[in-house]
Amino acid sequence: MTSDVIIIGGGIVGAASAFFCTQTGLRVTLLEKREALGLLTTSASLAAFRAQFAEAENIAMMRESIAFFENIRAHTKLDDAEIGMVQQGYLFCTTNPDVPARMKKRVEFQHAHGLTDVELWDGDETRKHFPFVSNEVIGAAFRAKDGWLSPNDLTNVYARAATRDGARIFYETFVTEMLIEGASVRGVKTNRGEFYAPQIILAAGPFTKNFAAQYAWDFPINLIRRQHAAVKEHALIPHYAPMTIDADTGAHWRPEARGAILAVNTAEAPSEPSDDIKPDWEFPALALDAVTRVSPFWEQVAENLRKGDLDVRAGQYDMTPDAKPIIDEHPNVRGFFVHAGYSGHGVMGSAAGSRMLADLMTGKLSRDENAFGTARFEKMDMNALEKMVL
Ligand SMILES: Cc1cc2nc3c(=O)[nH]c(=O)nc-3n(C[C@H](O)[C@H](O)[C@H](O)COP(=O)(O)OP(=O)(O)OC[C@H]3O[C@@H](n4cnc5c(N)ncnc54)[C@H](O)[C@@H]3O)c2cc1C
Repeated sequence: MTSDVIIIGGGIVGAASAFFCTQTGLRVTLLEKREALGLLTTSASLAAFRAQFAEAENIAMMRESIAFFENIRAHTKLDDAEIGMVQQGYLFCTTNPDVPARMKKRVEFQHAHGLTDVELWDGDETRKHFPFVSNEVIGAAFRAKDGWLSPNDLTNVYARAATRDGARIFYETFVTEMLIEGASVRGVKTNRGEFYAPQIILAAGPFTKNFAAQYAWDFPINLIRRQHAAVKEHALIPHYAPMTIDADTGAHWRPEARGAILAVNTAEAPSEPSDDIKPDWEFPALALDAVTRVSPFWEQVAENLRKGDLDVRAGQYDMTPDAKPIIDEHPNVRGFFVHAGYSGHGVMGSAAGSRMLADLMTGKLSRDENAFGTARFEKMDMNALEKMVL
Protein backbone atom coordinates (compact mmCIF):
# COMPACT_ATOMS: atom_id res chain seq x y z
CA MET A 1 0.00 0.00 0.00
CA THR A 2 1.49 3.35 -1.04
CA SER A 3 0.89 6.90 0.18
CA ASP A 4 2.86 10.15 0.58
CA VAL A 5 3.17 9.93 4.38
CA ILE A 6 2.90 7.16 6.96
CA ILE A 7 2.16 8.22 10.53
CA ILE A 8 3.17 5.81 13.30
CA GLY A 9 0.83 6.30 16.27
CA GLY A 10 -2.77 7.41 16.61
CA GLY A 11 -2.72 9.49 19.76
CA ILE A 12 -3.81 13.11 19.54
CA VAL A 13 -0.44 14.11 18.03
CA GLY A 14 -0.62 11.48 15.26
CA ALA A 15 -4.26 12.32 14.50
CA ALA A 16 -3.53 16.07 14.34
CA SER A 17 -0.51 15.39 12.11
CA ALA A 18 -2.78 13.40 9.79
CA PHE A 19 -5.24 16.28 9.55
CA PHE A 20 -2.64 18.98 8.86
CA CYS A 21 -0.79 16.82 6.31
CA THR A 22 -4.00 16.17 4.37
CA GLN A 23 -4.61 19.94 4.27
CA THR A 24 -1.37 20.34 2.29
CA GLY A 25 -2.55 17.75 -0.24
CA LEU A 26 -0.46 14.84 1.09
CA ARG A 27 -1.96 11.33 0.96
CA VAL A 28 -1.75 9.99 4.51
CA THR A 29 -1.78 6.52 6.07
CA LEU A 30 -1.99 6.39 9.87
CA LEU A 31 -1.05 3.17 11.68
CA GLU A 32 -2.20 2.59 15.26
CA LYS A 33 -1.43 -0.58 17.18
CA ARG A 34 -4.52 -0.36 19.39
CA GLU A 35 -8.16 -0.88 18.46
CA ALA A 36 -9.00 2.85 18.53
CA LEU A 37 -7.33 6.28 18.57
CA GLY A 38 -6.18 8.17 21.65
CA LEU A 39 -6.16 5.30 24.11
CA LEU A 40 -2.67 5.75 25.60
CA THR A 41 -1.30 9.05 27.01
CA THR A 42 -4.03 11.10 25.36
CA SER A 43 -6.73 9.44 27.45
CA ALA A 44 -4.78 10.03 30.71
CA SER A 45 -4.61 13.78 30.12
CA LEU A 46 -6.20 16.49 32.27
CA ALA A 47 -7.41 17.83 28.92
CA ALA A 48 -6.55 21.43 29.70
CA PHE A 49 -5.15 24.19 27.50
CA ARG A 50 -3.59 27.54 28.29
CA ALA A 51 -1.62 30.26 26.59
CA GLN A 52 -0.05 31.39 29.88
CA PHE A 53 3.51 30.13 29.43
CA ALA A 54 6.90 31.61 30.30
CA GLU A 55 8.57 31.03 26.91
CA ALA A 56 7.76 32.92 23.71
CA GLU A 57 7.66 29.75 21.54
CA ASN A 58 5.13 28.11 23.84
CA ILE A 59 2.96 31.23 24.08
CA ALA A 60 2.85 31.43 20.28
CA MET A 61 2.20 27.70 19.88
CA MET A 62 -0.67 27.60 22.37
CA ARG A 63 -2.26 30.84 21.11
CA GLU A 64 -2.35 29.36 17.62
CA SER A 65 -3.78 26.07 18.91
CA ILE A 66 -6.45 27.78 21.03
CA ALA A 67 -7.52 29.93 18.06
CA PHE A 68 -7.83 26.68 16.08
CA PHE A 69 -9.95 25.04 18.82
CA GLU A 70 -12.18 28.12 19.08
CA ASN A 71 -12.95 27.85 15.36
CA ILE A 72 -12.74 24.08 15.00
CA ARG A 73 -15.76 23.83 12.71
CA ALA A 74 -14.45 26.39 10.23
CA HIS A 75 -10.91 24.96 10.28
CA THR A 76 -11.98 21.34 9.80
CA LYS A 77 -15.02 22.17 7.65
CA LEU A 78 -17.01 19.80 9.85
CA ASP A 79 -20.28 21.56 10.72
CA ASP A 80 -21.00 19.16 13.57
CA ALA A 81 -17.49 19.09 15.10
CA GLU A 82 -17.83 19.07 18.90
CA ILE A 83 -14.78 19.04 21.19
CA GLY A 84 -16.33 19.86 24.59
CA MET A 85 -14.45 23.14 24.88
CA VAL A 86 -14.91 25.03 28.18
CA GLN A 87 -13.19 28.42 28.61
CA GLN A 88 -13.35 29.10 32.36
CA GLY A 89 -9.77 30.28 32.63
CA TYR A 90 -6.51 29.36 34.36
CA LEU A 91 -5.77 30.95 37.74
CA PHE A 92 -2.21 30.79 39.13
CA CYS A 93 -2.30 31.69 42.87
CA THR A 94 0.47 32.37 45.35
CA THR A 95 0.76 32.82 49.11
CA ASN A 96 4.51 33.52 48.94
CA PRO A 97 5.45 37.22 49.35
CA ASP A 98 8.42 36.78 46.95
CA VAL A 99 6.24 35.60 44.07
CA PRO A 100 3.95 38.55 43.09
CA ALA A 101 6.93 40.57 41.81
CA ARG A 102 8.05 37.58 39.67
CA MET A 103 4.47 37.04 38.53
CA LYS A 104 4.27 40.69 37.47
CA LYS A 105 7.43 40.31 35.35
CA ARG A 106 6.06 37.17 33.73
CA VAL A 107 2.73 38.79 32.94
CA GLU A 108 4.57 41.79 31.43
CA PHE A 109 6.53 39.33 29.28
CA GLN A 110 3.29 37.63 28.21
CA HIS A 111 1.71 41.01 27.35
CA ALA A 112 4.81 41.92 25.33
CA HIS A 113 4.34 38.68 23.39
CA GLY A 114 0.78 39.51 22.42
CA LEU A 115 -0.97 37.77 25.30
CA THR A 116 -2.55 41.00 26.47
CA ASP A 117 -5.53 39.43 28.24
CA VAL A 118 -3.62 37.99 31.23
CA GLU A 119 -4.76 39.80 34.38
CA LEU A 120 -2.71 40.31 37.52
CA TRP A 121 -4.66 40.42 40.78
CA ASP A 122 -3.94 40.88 44.47
CA GLY A 123 -5.55 38.54 47.01
CA ASP A 124 -8.75 40.57 47.47
CA GLU A 125 -9.30 40.94 43.75
CA THR A 126 -8.77 37.19 43.35
CA ARG A 127 -11.40 36.39 46.02
CA LYS A 128 -13.80 38.94 44.50
CA HIS A 129 -13.79 36.85 41.32
CA PHE A 130 -13.42 33.45 43.00
CA PRO A 131 -14.63 33.51 46.63
CA PHE A 132 -13.50 29.92 47.26
CA VAL A 133 -9.83 31.01 47.16
CA SER A 134 -7.99 30.99 50.51
CA ASN A 135 -7.45 34.21 52.49
CA GLU A 136 -3.75 33.31 52.46
CA VAL A 137 -3.52 33.98 48.71
CA ILE A 138 -1.86 37.35 48.08
CA GLY A 139 -1.54 37.38 44.30
CA ALA A 140 -2.74 35.66 41.14
CA ALA A 141 -2.48 35.67 37.36
CA PHE A 142 -5.64 34.89 35.40
CA ARG A 143 -6.55 34.42 31.75
CA ALA A 144 -10.23 33.86 31.03
CA LYS A 145 -9.77 32.25 27.59
CA ASP A 146 -7.73 29.30 28.89
CA GLY A 147 -9.68 26.14 29.72
CA TRP A 148 -10.18 22.50 28.83
CA LEU A 149 -11.74 20.26 26.20
CA SER A 150 -12.31 16.60 25.38
CA PRO A 151 -9.05 15.10 24.00
CA ASN A 152 -10.97 12.07 22.78
CA ASP A 153 -13.44 14.22 20.81
CA LEU A 154 -10.64 16.41 19.44
CA THR A 155 -8.63 13.34 18.33
CA ASN A 156 -11.67 11.97 16.55
CA VAL A 157 -12.47 15.32 14.91
CA TYR A 158 -8.90 15.50 13.54
CA ALA A 159 -9.24 11.91 12.29
CA ARG A 160 -12.68 12.41 10.78
CA ALA A 161 -11.58 15.51 8.86
CA ALA A 162 -8.38 13.75 7.75
CA THR A 163 -10.22 10.66 6.46
CA ARG A 164 -12.74 12.84 4.65
CA ASP A 165 -9.73 14.38 2.90
CA GLY A 166 -8.27 11.04 1.89
CA ALA A 167 -6.34 9.75 4.93
CA ARG A 168 -6.56 6.03 5.67
CA ILE A 169 -6.40 4.76 9.24
CA PHE A 170 -5.42 1.19 10.12
CA TYR A 171 -6.10 -0.08 13.65
CA GLU A 172 -4.41 -2.99 15.42
CA THR A 173 -1.48 -2.35 13.11
CA PHE A 174 1.80 -2.49 14.96
CA VAL A 175 4.84 -1.01 13.23
CA THR A 176 7.81 -3.27 13.91
CA GLU A 177 10.47 -1.59 11.79
CA MET A 178 11.17 1.01 9.13
CA LEU A 179 12.25 0.22 5.61
CA ILE A 180 15.19 2.39 4.61
CA GLU A 181 16.88 2.45 1.22
CA GLY A 182 20.17 4.29 0.99
CA ALA A 183 19.61 7.38 3.10
CA SER A 184 15.83 7.67 2.55
CA VAL A 185 12.78 6.04 4.09
CA ARG A 186 10.74 3.73 1.90
CA GLY A 187 8.05 2.48 4.28
CA VAL A 188 7.36 0.34 7.35
CA LYS A 189 6.91 -3.29 8.28
CA THR A 190 3.88 -4.16 10.43
CA ASN A 191 2.01 -7.20 11.72
CA ARG A 192 -0.30 -6.65 8.71
CA GLY A 193 2.39 -6.45 6.07
CA GLU A 194 4.37 -3.62 4.53
CA PHE A 195 3.24 -0.05 3.84
CA TYR A 196 5.19 2.29 1.55
CA ALA A 197 5.74 6.05 1.61
CA PRO A 198 8.68 8.43 1.07
CA GLN A 199 7.92 10.21 4.36
CA ILE A 200 7.25 8.84 7.84
CA ILE A 201 6.10 10.69 10.94
CA LEU A 202 6.97 8.96 14.19
CA ALA A 203 4.29 10.07 16.70
CA ALA A 204 4.38 7.08 19.01
CA GLY A 205 4.13 9.04 22.28
CA PRO A 206 6.23 7.38 24.99
CA PHE A 207 7.55 4.80 22.49
CA THR A 208 9.05 7.43 20.18
CA LYS A 209 12.52 7.76 21.68
CA ASN A 210 13.33 4.02 21.72
CA PHE A 211 11.95 3.52 18.21
CA ALA A 212 14.06 6.36 16.79
CA ALA A 213 17.16 5.13 18.62
CA GLN A 214 17.13 1.98 16.44
CA TYR A 215 17.89 4.27 13.49
CA ALA A 216 20.79 6.14 15.12
CA TRP A 217 18.62 9.07 16.12
CA ASP A 218 19.13 9.92 19.74
CA PHE A 219 17.29 12.84 21.31
CA PRO A 220 16.69 13.63 24.96
CA ILE A 221 13.27 12.49 26.19
CA ASN A 222 12.69 11.24 29.73
CA LEU A 223 9.46 9.46 30.56
CA ILE A 224 7.98 10.57 33.87
CA ARG A 225 4.80 9.10 35.31
CA ARG A 226 2.06 11.64 36.02
CA GLN A 227 -1.31 10.98 37.64
CA HIS A 228 -4.63 12.68 38.12
CA ALA A 229 -7.55 11.97 40.42
CA ALA A 230 -11.19 12.46 39.48
CA VAL A 231 -13.82 13.27 42.11
CA LYS A 232 -17.46 12.56 41.32
CA GLU A 233 -20.24 15.12 41.66
CA HIS A 234 -20.19 17.02 44.96
CA ALA A 235 -22.33 20.00 46.04
CA LEU A 236 -19.38 21.94 47.49
CA ILE A 237 -17.34 22.01 44.27
CA PRO A 238 -17.80 25.40 42.52
CA HIS A 239 -18.56 24.37 38.96
CA TYR A 240 -17.82 27.90 37.67
CA ALA A 241 -14.18 27.70 38.86
CA PRO A 242 -11.20 28.03 36.53
CA MET A 243 -8.28 25.61 36.48
CA THR A 244 -6.92 26.69 39.88
CA ILE A 245 -3.19 26.28 40.38
CA ASP A 246 -1.17 26.63 43.54
CA ALA A 247 1.77 28.35 41.86
CA ASP A 248 3.96 27.65 44.92
CA THR A 249 3.56 23.84 44.78
CA GLY A 250 2.13 23.08 41.33
CA ALA A 251 -0.97 21.37 42.79
CA HIS A 252 -4.01 22.09 40.61
CA TRP A 253 -7.65 21.22 40.09
CA ARG A 254 -10.50 22.09 37.78
CA PRO A 255 -14.21 21.36 37.63
CA GLU A 256 -15.39 18.46 35.47
CA ALA A 257 -19.16 18.35 35.05
CA ARG A 258 -20.34 18.63 38.72
CA GLY A 259 -17.18 16.95 40.02
CA ALA A 260 -13.51 17.80 39.54
CA ILE A 261 -10.09 16.61 38.39
CA LEU A 262 -7.08 17.13 40.68
CA ALA A 263 -3.34 16.71 40.25
CA VAL A 264 -0.08 17.22 42.06
CA ASN A 265 3.42 16.21 41.04
CA THR A 266 4.95 13.29 42.91
CA ALA A 267 8.67 12.49 42.88
CA GLU A 268 9.15 10.03 40.01
CA ALA A 269 12.25 8.46 38.49
CA PRO A 270 12.39 8.29 34.67
CA SER A 271 10.73 5.09 33.43
CA GLU A 272 10.66 2.85 30.35
CA PRO A 273 7.79 3.24 27.85
CA SER A 274 4.76 1.23 28.86
CA ASP A 275 1.25 0.46 27.62
CA ASP A 276 0.07 -0.01 31.17
CA ILE A 277 1.12 2.70 33.62
CA LYS A 278 -0.31 1.85 37.02
CA PRO A 279 -1.59 4.66 39.25
CA ASP A 280 -1.18 4.71 43.06
CA TRP A 281 -4.35 4.44 45.09
CA GLU A 282 -2.78 6.81 47.66
CA PHE A 283 -2.62 9.50 44.98
CA PRO A 284 -6.16 10.95 45.43
CA ALA A 285 -5.46 11.56 49.14
CA LEU A 286 -2.20 13.34 48.27
CA ALA A 287 -3.88 15.47 45.62
CA LEU A 288 -6.83 16.37 47.86
CA ASP A 289 -4.45 17.44 50.58
CA ALA A 290 -2.32 19.48 48.15
CA VAL A 291 -5.15 21.49 46.56
CA THR A 292 -6.61 22.42 49.98
CA ARG A 293 -3.91 25.05 50.61
CA VAL A 294 -5.29 27.43 47.97
CA SER A 295 -8.87 26.10 47.79
CA PRO A 296 -9.77 25.25 51.43
CA PHE A 297 -13.27 23.91 50.63
CA TRP A 298 -11.53 20.71 49.52
CA GLU A 299 -10.95 19.81 53.18
CA GLN A 300 -14.71 19.54 53.70
CA VAL A 301 -15.21 17.67 50.44
CA ALA A 302 -12.49 15.18 51.41
CA GLU A 303 -14.07 14.48 54.81
CA ASN A 304 -16.98 12.47 53.47
CA LEU A 305 -15.58 11.05 50.24
CA ARG A 306 -15.67 7.29 49.77
CA LYS A 307 -13.45 5.20 47.51
CA GLY A 308 -16.29 4.88 44.99
CA ASP A 309 -16.35 8.68 44.60
CA LEU A 310 -12.78 8.67 43.32
CA ASP A 311 -10.93 7.50 40.26
CA VAL A 312 -7.24 7.75 39.44
CA ARG A 313 -5.44 7.66 36.07
CA ALA A 314 -1.77 7.61 35.11
CA GLY A 315 0.30 8.13 32.00
CA GLN A 316 3.79 9.21 30.99
CA TYR A 317 4.96 12.77 30.31
CA ASP A 318 7.55 12.68 27.51
CA MET A 319 9.84 15.36 28.95
CA THR A 320 12.50 17.15 26.92
CA PRO A 321 15.18 19.21 28.72
CA ASP A 322 13.43 22.51 27.87
CA ALA A 323 9.87 21.09 28.12
CA LYS A 324 9.18 21.91 24.46
CA PRO A 325 8.29 19.37 21.76
CA ILE A 326 10.53 17.86 19.11
CA ILE A 327 9.38 18.46 15.53
CA ASP A 328 12.20 17.55 13.19
CA GLU A 329 13.62 15.41 10.39
CA HIS A 330 16.35 12.82 10.96
CA PRO A 331 19.74 14.42 10.22
CA ASN A 332 20.82 11.52 7.96
CA VAL A 333 17.67 9.66 6.86
CA ARG A 334 15.61 11.72 4.45
CA GLY A 335 11.86 11.63 5.05
CA PHE A 336 12.01 10.40 8.66
CA PHE A 337 10.24 12.95 10.89
CA VAL A 338 9.59 12.88 14.61
CA HIS A 339 6.69 14.57 16.39
CA ALA A 340 6.80 14.01 20.17
CA GLY A 341 8.24 15.26 23.46
CA TYR A 342 5.36 17.56 24.35
CA SER A 343 6.30 17.40 28.04
CA GLY A 344 2.71 17.41 29.30
CA HIS A 345 1.30 19.81 26.69
CA GLY A 346 0.48 17.59 23.72
CA VAL A 347 -3.27 18.09 23.75
CA MET A 348 -3.00 21.87 23.74
CA GLY A 349 -0.03 21.96 21.36
CA SER A 350 -1.41 19.42 18.89
CA ALA A 351 -2.87 21.87 16.37
CA ALA A 352 -0.02 24.38 16.06
CA GLY A 353 2.67 21.68 16.32
CA SER A 354 1.10 19.66 13.52
CA ARG A 355 0.70 22.73 11.34
CA MET A 356 4.42 23.43 11.83
CA LEU A 357 5.33 19.83 11.03
CA ALA A 358 3.29 19.92 7.80
CA ASP A 359 5.04 23.19 6.88
CA LEU A 360 8.44 21.62 7.58
CA MET A 361 7.59 18.61 5.41
CA THR A 362 6.39 20.71 2.51
CA GLY A 363 9.30 23.17 2.70
CA LYS A 364 7.15 26.10 3.87
CA LEU A 365 9.12 26.18 7.14
CA SER A 366 12.89 25.90 6.83
CA ARG A 367 15.01 23.90 9.25
CA ASP A 368 16.68 27.11 10.42
CA GLU A 369 13.35 28.74 11.24
CA ASN A 370 12.09 25.70 13.14
CA ALA A 371 12.22 26.42 16.89
CA PHE A 372 11.52 22.78 17.78
CA GLY A 373 14.40 21.00 16.01
CA THR A 374 16.84 18.75 17.89
CA ALA A 375 19.78 21.06 17.07
CA ARG A 376 18.64 23.28 19.95
CA PHE A 377 19.80 20.67 22.47
CA GLU A 378 23.42 21.09 21.32
CA LYS A 379 23.50 24.79 22.16
CA MET A 380 20.79 24.90 24.75
CA ASP A 381 20.12 28.23 26.42
CA MET A 382 19.46 27.35 30.06
CA ASN A 383 17.36 30.52 30.36
CA ALA A 384 14.97 29.27 27.70
CA LEU A 385 13.62 26.35 29.72
CA GLU A 386 9.86 26.50 30.08
CA LYS A 387 9.27 27.05 33.78
CA MET A 388 5.48 26.92 33.76
CA VAL A 389 5.21 23.12 33.57
CA LEU A 390 2.48 21.54 35.69
C1 LIG B 1 -1.63 12.73 33.87
C2 LIG B 1 -1.44 13.53 32.60
C3 LIG B 1 -2.06 14.77 32.47
C4 LIG B 1 -1.89 15.51 31.30
N1 LIG B 1 -2.57 16.70 31.18
C5 LIG B 1 -2.46 17.41 30.03
C6 LIG B 1 -3.20 18.61 29.86
O1 LIG B 1 -3.97 19.04 30.73
N2 LIG B 1 -3.08 19.28 28.68
C7 LIG B 1 -2.24 18.84 27.68
O2 LIG B 1 -2.14 19.51 26.65
N3 LIG B 1 -1.54 17.70 27.81
C8 LIG B 1 -1.63 16.97 28.96
N4 LIG B 1 -0.93 15.82 29.11
C9 LIG B 1 -0.01 15.41 28.03
C10 LIG B 1 -0.76 14.83 26.86
O3 LIG B 1 -1.64 13.82 27.33
C11 LIG B 1 0.26 14.25 25.88
O4 LIG B 1 1.22 15.25 25.55
C12 LIG B 1 -0.42 13.78 24.59
O5 LIG B 1 -1.51 12.95 24.87
C13 LIG B 1 0.60 13.03 23.76
O6 LIG B 1 -0.07 12.49 22.64
P1 LIG B 1 0.69 11.51 21.68
O7 LIG B 1 -0.19 11.28 20.52
O8 LIG B 1 2.07 12.03 21.44
O9 LIG B 1 0.92 10.18 22.55
P2 LIG B 1 -0.08 8.98 22.90
O10 LIG B 1 -1.42 9.48 23.25
O11 LIG B 1 0.64 8.15 23.88
O12 LIG B 1 -0.21 8.22 21.52
C14 LIG B 1 0.82 7.44 20.97
C15 LIG B 1 0.16 6.35 20.15
O13 LIG B 1 1.14 5.62 19.43
C16 LIG B 1 0.75 4.26 19.40
N5 LIG B 1 1.96 3.48 19.09
C17 LIG B 1 3.12 3.43 19.80
N6 LIG B 1 4.02 2.64 19.18
C18 LIG B 1 3.42 2.19 18.05
C19 LIG B 1 3.85 1.33 16.98
N7 LIG B 1 5.08 0.79 16.96
N8 LIG B 1 2.97 1.06 15.97
C20 LIG B 1 1.73 1.60 15.97
N9 LIG B 1 1.27 2.42 16.96
C21 LIG B 1 2.11 2.71 17.98
C22 LIG B 1 0.19 4.03 20.79
O14 LIG B 1 -0.65 2.89 20.85
C23 LIG B 1 -0.56 5.33 21.04
O15 LIG B 1 -1.92 5.26 20.65
C24 LIG B 1 -1.07 15.03 30.25
C25 LIG B 1 -0.44 13.78 30.38
C26 LIG B 1 -0.63 13.03 31.53
C27 LIG B 1 0.05 11.70 31.63
